[in-house]
Amino acid sequence: MLGLDDTIAAVATGGGPAGLAVVRLSGGDALRLADQVFRGATRLSDAGSHTLHHGWATWPDRGVDRSRRAGKGPAPAGEAVAPAGGARLDEVVVSVFRAPRSYTREDVVEFSCHGGEWPARRIRAALLEAGARLARPGEFTLRAFLSGRIDLAQAEAVADLIQASTARAHELALSQLAGDLSRTLNGLAERIADAAAEVEARVDFAEDVGGAEVPPHVVTAIGAAHRGLAELLAGAHWARAVREGVRVALVGRPNVGKSSLFNALVGEPRAIVTPIPGTTRDRVSEAIELAGIRVTLSDTAGLRDGAGPVETMGIAITEQAIDGSAAVLWVVDGSVPLGREDCSLARRLEGRRVLAALNKCDRPAVVRDADLARSSAVDLGRSSGAEPWPVVAVSATRGDGLEALRAALAKLLGAGEDERALAASVGNPRHVEALGRAREALGRAAGAAGAAPGEIVALELREALEAIGEVTGRSAGEDLLERIFARFCIGK
Ligand code: GDP
Repeated sequence: MLGLDDTIAAVATGGGPAGLAVVRLSGGDALRLADQVFRGATRLSDAGSHTLHHGWATWPDRGVDRSRRAGKGPAPAGEAVAPAGGARLDEVVVSVFRAPRSYTREDVVEFSCHGGEWPARRIRAALLEAGARLARPGEFTLRAFLSGRIDLAQAEAVADLIQASTARAHELALSQLAGDLSRTLNGLAERIADAAAEVEARVDFAEDVGGAEVPPHVVTAIGAAHRGLAELLAGAHWARAVREGVRVALVGRPNVGKSSLFNALVGEPRAIVTPIPGTTRDRVSEAIELAGIRVTLSDTAGLRDGAGPVETMGIAITEQAIDGSAAVLWVVDGSVPLGREDCSLARRLEGRRVLAALNKCDRPAVVRDADLARSSAVDLGRSSGAEPWPVVAVSATRGDGLEALRAALAKLLGAGEDERALAASVGNPRHVEALGRAREALGRAAGAAGAAPGEIVALELREALEAIGEVTGRSAGEDLLERIFARFCIGK
């Protein structure tokens, strides 16, 4: 990771017509470079921190450099020829944040210009012309992390915040950005470090302290840290669903009303509904929000035996959809007896999170809830010890039971398990993996504390600390940082 001493520039706002856009500049030369582009009443190099300045952004007047570019380098992005020195680019308001009271802890200058495609792009080009380097993805936030203003979990929360697709996901990212997770982890790490130091001291000075055994209060502390991590990880499944959203596939034999139910849940006709079996051959996907989770529903081709070649391809895609789904909505036509195809499908769904929708409840019922639940699970060919699947009676065409179906689906996905716990939950798979390792190491340390020599206990405690440090960034290598920040957008 070279060039951390460079002054970097990027457009920080999204594209398209908009009221305003922001071009950001950070680094030791930020004020001097901004002065080459800004024309206003004050020189930015003389301006105080946290001040605003109205004026014009103009093309820098750098005769020597421009003539060099005219011979060799390309014109700035989108320009046929570089503008003349001093040419106006936009009317702007510039904010000055002096080190260390800025996002990156370096000198930061932000040009607020008009939105739309050109103003920000040309101001960025002008700043690059003046000598700034284009920022890499996430480089502003990387600098905030490297300067110690935020830790790694907080830096990752910035990316989550930008990508949040539901209000719930936004809240989860906000709490992580505010440092809730970091504080919990730092508290745990401190207690583990104290325990490790005490165990190590006893090993080193066994003779002076009367033996190398791990004292009871340290055993208690290790147990408490282990429980703390387990609690934190308990909400991980739900937090991940909130953070990333989930996929739910609608499956069922042809003509049971999958497409109708898909349309009813989505709220507008997207899937083609016909009385001819086998009409839906592609996967149609649409996202809805359920209990704060973004749920991508996919309508699939009906799974049936003996279909034609096109439909057979659709069925293969359906199998993939089932594999990639967090849960399956199994649609059954409740107005006709269960058939062989329903039973073979039920067997295929064994072991997955399944919610059964007993459709066409506007007609006289032939299939009952109990037929799909445990009591007659054997008839469906499910193993007798299998978990009963929840069943909701619905009418896709009349709209009966849709609320109950949404609620049952949210519950199946883990909603309501522990709403309070979400605040300090871990939804990032990288964090879950590292903290899982920490929890295992603590478990081994607790097991060894009574029996094995102190050295072993200390080793496990150090391993737990290392894993926690990967989340907060205390023990994050350059490779890891590069992977994490590559996920960011430019300008963040
Ligand atoms: P798919 O093949 O499983 O996707 O089934 P469709 O959604 O295409 O529906 C097949 C037929 O069943 C269509 O004629 C629908 O109008 C009808 N249908 C779907 N849902 C209901 C329902 O709840 N009640 C009744 N009476 N008919 C329905």
